Amino acid sequence: MSRLVIISNRLPVNVTKQDGKFGYRDSVGGVATGISSLTDHGEKIWFGWPGIPAEALTEREKKEASETLSQKGCYPVFLSTSQIDNFYSGFCNRTIWPLFHYFSELSIYDESFWQAYKSSNQLFCDELIKHVSEDDFIWVHDYQLMLLPEMIREKLPEAQIGFFLHIPFPSFEIMRELPRRSELLNGILGADLIGFHEYDYVRHFLSSVYRICGCEHNLSKLQIDNRQIRVDAFPMGIDYEKYASIPAKFKNKPVEEEKPRIILSVDRLDYTKGIPNRLEAYESFLSKYPEYHGKVRLVMIAVPTRTEVEEYASLRETIEKDVGRINGKYSTVDWTPISYMFRSLPFEELSEFYYRGDVGLITPLRDGMNLVAKEFIAAQKNKEHQAVLILSEMAGAASELSESIVINPHHKDQIVEAIKTALDMPQEERAKRNKMMQGRISRYTVGRWATEFIVSLKEIKKEQGRLR
Ligand code: UDP
Repeated sequence: MSRLVIISNRLPVNVTKQDGKFGYRDSVGGVATGISSLTDHGEKIWFGWPGIPAEALTEREKKEASETLSQKGCYPVFLSTSQIDNFYSGFCNRTIWPLFHYFSELSIYDESFWQAYKSSNQLFCDELIKHVSEDDFIWVHDYQLMLLPEMIREKLPEAQIGFFLHIPFPSFEIMRELPRRSELLNGILGADLIGFHEYDYVRHFLSSVYRICGCEHNLSKLQIDNRQIRVDAFPMGIDYEKYASIPAKFKNKPVEEEKPRIILSVDRLDYTKGIPNRLEAYESFLSKYPEYHGKVRLVMIAVPTRTEVEEYASLRETIEKDVGRINGKYSTVDWTPISYMFRSLPFEELSEFYYRGDVGLITPLRDGMNLVAKEFIAAQKNKEHQAVLILSEMAGAASELSESIVINPHHKDQIVEAIKTALDMPQEERAKRNKMMQGRISRYTVGRWATEFIVSLKEIKKEQGRLR
């Protein structure tokens, strides 16, 4: 019986070690939730880094951790500190991440980053090959592992391999700047099915493959060495019921009488999320519409991320200075215009903010998808006072959430007017818009996303068999 093999940079279980004792902490992200709902596709196993540097464990401890993890269907790939620095913090987060999000001025190319990227992908491949066969369905995830499909194909020529990119795929004009562009594209082309969140990313990928590798496509299909490859959009969804059931938990709290009204923003503190632009627009809103002083409050949740990378530390400083300046300028004895949190909230706390928010303000400069936008809309289900979502057109989620107030995050005045429109929008209109969006995101959940990807991978394999 074939198995479903998932490979991602991180395992859904983190290994920790304190005072010589192991701990195992589940980290249930979107992908893990989607995969867990795949009940009809045989046994599932997962490969990834368990979140602890290889040097922190003796050989015996690695063996012990591997045995415990294998009982949960997880196989660890132990990365050394130097691989974490050069592969993960280096090539992944300082070369690919900024470039693929159109921040080419922040993208650094360093040969040692590239060598570490190659050797780390090879390490994942070597670990995987020990455990899988050509009968298994192999699903490789994200920008950390773009060379892996080709590496697996070399070892297992008949394997069924899918690849999904969770971040945007940039236009050819950006992709062409990358020194190792053809190696990366050829790496991805080792897969039989290549998935992106959006058709725009599919288009950009196909055009890069044509311009850089010279492969033509026909209706999103490519032919390489007698092997047909399908490239398609699979927009990732959320666990809809988990968020739609939030209002029931808070139903008895009299939040509708609460003043001031809450404008909510939730994201990792990343330069792609457009946080300084958002603050600038909010400041401008307060200056243009003084009648809202004391009546609105921006609740900004900024989740710490990649704090070891310099750009992230200086962005944090900029944001905290901006928050301080705006609060300093407008605060009164009984009103503070911005409540700022620099920490990650567990689901229970985040859900209260989703419930109490009156306006969701999500303004990324680029975002592969943005699940927060979908979660926020789902959390309005059956709520008496519906919130309004303001969403950047640069987020992948905007194509499915077109009834939100869609803005260009570079256009400050447009954001200012969007905040005003959102606050003034009649309840009936808010409910109508949210219902349309809820209909869509409740149909295309994360479970359906995972199922459609795997079913498509199985179909393409059958088609390839027929073509031979
Ligand atoms: N999230 C969380 N705690 C927080 C803030 C966010 O658990 O304090 C979760 C949120 O529910 C969402 C994810 O983090 O599922 C962020 O995903 P998104 O696609 O919006 O952005 P990413 O961080 O992947 O760029």
